[in-house]
Amino acid sequence: MNESATAEHGERPSGVRVRRGGCNCGAVRFELRGDPTRVGVCHCLECRKATGAVSMAYADWPLSAFTRHGETREYLGRSFCTRCGSRLFHLKPDEVEILLGALDDAPSDLVPTREGWIRRRERWLAPLRDAEQAWEDPH
Ligand SMILES: [Zn+2]
Ligand SMILES: [Zn+2]
Repeated sequence: MNESATAEHGERPSGVRVRRGGCNCGAVRFELRGDPTRVGVCHCLECRKATGAVSMAYADWPLSAFTRHGETREYLGRSFCTRCGSRLFHLKPDEVEILLGALDDAPSDLVPTREGWIRRRERWLAPLRDAEQAWEDPH
């Protein structure tokens, strides 16, 4: 593989996978190096309200793997673009939770292995195959 081909697939010559994302208007951009520590879907009321969607798909990375630029505001840790309002990520003390829909790759290559708050899952949604099912918070 030559260097341009590697770059196209989101990799650097070092071999570390890089994923990029941002908001709808482009004012906020971010980058993640390496693979996430967990990938999941949450159906809890807070995730529903925060996204306006019936569930939230997310992936967590260590904070050290995360860089970003552009102006955001936060509500209870959940960030959004001040210009277009797109939801982006949730900054925690030592990790960052990225909303899968904020990644540039659609579909992404990430597959949830845990599904939380299934008691709030819409009746028309099927359980995710091979994902741990948690009635409320997954452990
Ligand atoms: Zn924006
Ligand atoms: Zn939730």
